Parts: sequence; structure tokens; C-alpha cells
Amino acid sequence: MNRLLSIFYPRKCPYCSKPLKYDMTECLVCRAEFPKTPRIEALPTGEICIAPFTYNGAIRRAICDYKFRGKKFNAYSLAGAVVSSIRNVYYKDMGFEVITCVPMSKDRKIERGFNQSELIARYAAEQLDKPFENLLYRESGAAVQHEKTYSERISGKDDSFHVISQEKVEGKKLLLIDDIMTTGVTLSRCSTILRDCGAERVFCASVAISKEYGVHNNISGGG
Ligand SMILES: [Zn+2]
Repeated sequence: MNRLLSIFYPRKCPYCSKPLKYDMTECLVCRAEFPKTPRIEALPTGEICIAPFTYNGAIRRAICDYKFRGKKFNAYSLAGAVVSSIRNVYYKDMGFEVITCVPMSKDRKIERGFNQSELIARYAAEQLDKPFENLLYRESGAAVQHEKTYSERISGKDDSFHVISQEKVEGKKLLLIDDIMTTGVTLSRCSTILRDCGAERVFCASVAISKEYGVHNNISGGG
């Protein structure tokens, strides 16, 4: 964050709203309460997705404040937690060459003003010293995922995701980042398309995984 701006707009901890000292992205109390080990869950297509958090409580509030209430500062802390999980789980295989994100349709992007997964992926890329690139796009006007039932989503054909440039995907090891994993369908679709276009490997990470993920498979909403 711009240092001059931070004088006029004191930064607050994304999780408890207490004022933060210079350069901190969350307070020490909240940081100490972060889960010590990341969640690791299998996607419907068999890959794994890792996440530092379960989507509930203060984490849920921090993510909603970020996505819907313009608190973009929260992205620094959320990205930092994702990076810790990536280092923790993928440490033996950190050879991904490019970091990318789940895309948002043009319509949604205009509506929200930014792609929340992209900003987190960009901050994560900075911290991991890897390049970020938008490799996928999502067609505007495609049926919104949360309007479909789980079985429609898992079985139905979804042509809304596309690779921007096959050349940039072919033979590459990629890290794909999303904000919240609810059913794993979106990450599965994106990683399948990337592999179909020749990606050597796709590692997946998200900020949070829904509490119910893996408990039952009849969840509607999110991705
Ligand atoms: Zn705090």
C-alpha cells in the first residue's frame, strides 16, 4: 500500500478490525490463530487443492469484506496465507513456472470492478517471485454457476472457460489460484482445460475451502 495513503487511512486487521502498525498485514493475535497446517482436499477430477483456511468465522468476513465491500487491503494477508500453504505443501515441487487464476467474465468484472482471485494470485506471484499471467478467460453471459444444481455442474458441459493462448500453456507447470473452493467444480474445469491444452501439471490453491467440502456432495452455490 502507498505509504502516504496509509497515514490517512489507518490499516485495520482483516480479521478483528484492530488498527495495524506499519507494514503489518494482520495483527499478531490473529496471525497466531492461523491454522498450522493447510487443508488438502481432492478435486472431483483427482487433483488436489490446498488452502490455508476453512471458509467460516473471521476468515469468511475478511473475504466478504474484500470481495464485496472494497477492502482490497485484505488481499495482502489472504495472499500471504496462501503462499505459506504453497510453501508448506508443494515445497518439494515448487517448479511451477507461471501463476494464474480462475477467470471472471467481463460482465462480472465490470460489476465488481476487479477479479478477486486475480489480485490474490498477483500478490502471491510477487511473494513467490514467479510471473503471473491470465491464461484463461470466461465467456460473459454463460450460465452463472450457482444457478445450477451440483449434479448439473459436475456432469453438464460447460463451454464458458477457454484458454487465451495455447502457446503459453503447452508444456508448462502451472499454479492455479481461486478465492473460495465450494464444490471444486470450477477449479476442476479450469485445470482440465489447462491440461487439455498441454499443461504438464496444474497445482491448485485457494484462500479457503468450504466447511462442508468433502463431507457431502450436495452443495449449491460458489465454485
Ligand atoms: Zn487481528
